[in-house]
Amino acid sequence: MAGNRTLTMIKPDAVKAGNIGNILQMMNSAGFKIVAMKYTKLSKEKAGEFYAVHKERPFYGELVDFMSSGPIVAAILEKDNAVEDFRTLIGATNPADAAEGTIRAKYATSIGENAVHGSDSDENAQIESSFHFAGTEVFA
Ligand code: GDP
Repeated sequence: MAGNRTLTMIKPDAVKAGNIGNILQMMNSAGFKIVAMKYTKLSKEKAGEFYAVHKERPFYGELVDFMSSGPIVAAILEKDNAVEDFRTLIGATNPADAAEGTIRAKYATSIGENAVHGSDSDENAQIESSFHFAGTEVFA
């Protein structure tokens, strides 16, 4: 059964560009409810840990540098079929391939600096939510 939560991050490029409000608005309009949220900054070490699954990829160093380059907004979002529906809302990893009207089509500037993160499975949604939030920081 599909889970009802996913983990998102508004990445440093979108924060820097002043798009936090616009992106949160798109999430709300698409029916996602925010059940946890924080404005924070990842250290290089924490960014490396979050993206450890990509450690062997050629872009790993660049990704870790980017994700620790400035503040982010991390949030847990709730909706039926959250993971899949949120991936649809954000669009393809590369904004050049992202469908019109998606968050990445609107706000991403490159395959690396692509404005938002969205969990890719229910299992990862849970792992990533625990990475950013304690149980006491989640308000259903
Ligand atoms: P996602 O699930 O759509 O975020 O994509 P992936 O799990 O494949 O990659 C994780 C993140 O790594 C992406 O969102 C990008 O920020 C970054 N990334 C992926 N591919 C590339 C690449 O070719 N170059 C760079 N610099 N970053 C990349």
